[in-house]
Amino acid sequence: MKTDQEREQHRRFVQALQHEHLTCAKPGCGGPMDVVDLTTHSARVKTYEATCERCQGVERITGKEEHTPSWDVASITMMAEMHLLHDQPTCPFDDTPITFISMPNPRRKARYRLCCFYCGRHTDMNWPPPEAKG
Ligand SMILES: [Zn+2]
Ligand SMILES: [Zn+2]
Repeated sequence: MKTDQEREQHRRFVQALQHEHLTCAKPGCGGPMDVVDLTTHSARVKTYEATCERCQGVERITGKEEHTPSWDVASITMMAEMHLLHDQPTCPFDDTPITFISMPNPRRKARYRLCCFYCGRHTDMNWPPPEAKG
């Protein structure tokens, strides 16, 4: 079970991930924050640095890497189906919106990587997923 603080941190992480406006969490400030994505190319979990334009306070917003247990086939199929329906699938472990990345494929078949940038779980799949046909 998550604590209130963890829940709040997760909420701010999702806001940063979705490029929503973040406001400073310092009591009495509430200034707009400038968010920079500091994630390195190889990182599985995103890291942001938010700077308050009013008080210059800096907040680091990052995911919590966790890979086990990994996604099972049922949840991966569910994410693919939601994506096909133009819905936003979320990670079954932490409710973070899943990012779909189109991958280059030499055989010209569509291939996607599904990532949760909060916990770092990810999987690759051919597109469209065979389970979703019909
Ligand atoms: Zn502030
Ligand atoms: Zn996750």
